[in-house]
Amino acid sequence: MSPLPLYLAGTWTSGRGEPLASHNPVNNRVLAVVSTAGAADVDHAVAAGQAAMRNPAWRDLLPHQRAAFLHRIATLIERDAERLAQLQRQDNGKPILETRALVASAAGTFRYFAAVCETMEGDITPSRGNYLSLSTWEPLGVIAAITPWNSPIASEAQKVAPALAAGNAVIVKPSEFTPLLALELAKLSDEAGLPKGLLSVLPGTGASTGAALVAHPGIAKVTFTGGTATGRAIGRVAAEKIMPVSLELGGKSPNIVFADADLDQAINGVLFGLFSSQGQSCIAGSRIFIEESIYPAFTAKLAERVTALRIGDPVSERTQIGPLITPQHRDKVEGYVTLAREEGGRLLCGGTRPVDATLQAGNYFMPALIDGLNNRNRTAQEEIFGPVGVLLPFRDEDSLIAEANDSVYGLASGVWTGDFRRAWRIGRALNAGTVWINTYKQFSIATPFGGNAESGIGREKARDGLKAYMRQKSLYIDMSGRPIPWAD
Ligand code: NAD
Repeated sequence: MSPLPLYLAGTWTSGRGEPLASHNPVNNRVLAVVSTAGAADVDHAVAAGQAAMRNPAWRDLLPHQRAAFLHRIATLIERDAERLAQLQRQDNGKPILETRALVASAAGTFRYFAAVCETMEGDITPSRGNYLSLSTWEPLGVIAAITPWNSPIASEAQKVAPALAAGNAVIVKPSEFTPLLALELAKLSDEAGLPKGLLSVLPGTGASTGAALVAHPGIAKVTFTGGTATGRAIGRVAAEKIMPVSLELGGKSPNIVFADADLDQAINGVLFGLFSSQGQSCIAGSRIFIEESIYPAFTAKLAERVTALRIGDPVSERTQIGPLITPQHRDKVEGYVTLAREEGGRLLCGGTRPVDATLQAGNYFMPALIDGLNNRNRTAQEEIFGPVGVLLPFRDEDSLIAEANDSVYGLASGVWTGDFRRAWRIGRALNAGTVWINTYKQFSIATPFGGNAESGIGREKARDGLKAYMRQKSLYIDMSGRPIPWAD
């Protein structure tokens, strides 16, 4: 299989790095081989990005004209939605209903930031003299957007759309496990007529292409989504360069069920919150806190429902659980089930490879629930990033809040209760960037998203998501026509 070219400064070319293969997690067969970028390609992409930004053809566009490019990209994503969703299913292993939703969300993200771009305003600030003082916003420069494998195209759109809308150039470094959708986005941007050089898509490994981008002196900001250890390494380099970063990192989110909740809804929310995307989600509600009085009945019912989840080929609309991304990742998830047992945990369901002969070639893992642990156990503290949930009983609100917040992470959380005052109280007390009340994993591009503590720095989405790719400039304009008194 000859390597697919990468998208370097508006041209399709072979990169100077080692080609890498993307595998279909259903059978681990090679889906595609892609060219990767070497350090010289990174240099070229950065220089082209800087030149494209300075070119009046982009720099001087009025906001509604820039927005038109984003609308065109959105329209093309919508035109190709089914093809993109099917490709992502193969590249990543997520069930088709999920990949369709991710593609639709990517198109929506481009439209939303087109609207924000057109409507964004600066400020006339209160002056303290006979001058007019203004605060305006300008683009940062060339942005490096580094993305993980779990939600391709949606993750890339979440960074590329606001960065372009703000007037920057962008270089995308997709995950080495799922490079294909970012390359598709490049094709569509090209077709939309985006001036050449504004977008490059450079596949490669984190250690080579990713690290070269982060360290490059011409990169004005890194916007990163991925694991906390990688985020920390990028943060160190950024500190040396005095370069802004936004870091969307890992999580170990609590999903909390009170006895007064609508328990049928809560069960559905716990299932969806943890097991959609096979648990390979930063916001997976993987610590499930259940009020003591309903613990036995709730966990029994939950285990029954988990056992009934439909595991299979992501091509089927009926499939709820597809394969994990790689055999190595499945080994890691499996290792946590072994650890849970060593820590004294009891497996209520799943936690093994399936016996079904049709699933043997893929990286399948039966969704698991574990009880008998406490919140301090490693299984309850570390991000597993797979279909494994830890069940934790709680007695009262104070101990619940203390335990739920006892985590290095602070990404998301869920509260299930029929008492809105309690929902408000608990929601405010949780250390998390997002709290879902009687729901879970709902998203609006108009609502900020991001993590506290080791779950990250900064917020994406929403109106301010554009400003994350801009800096402020203050202007003072004399209105008096008189000399400055000191110099007079
Ligand atoms: P990862 O950190 O291994 O890789 C993410 C990206 O960083 C990849 O493109 C990788 O090639 C690159 N990378 C790795 N080392 C690098 C380096 N030294 N310099 C520059 N780039 C480097 O994460 P992953 O396994 O792809 O994704 C799973 C993780 O992502 C989980 O921890 C999950 O919680 C997190 N995640 C967070 C969010 C969020 O919004 N908070 C969303 C999705 C995933």
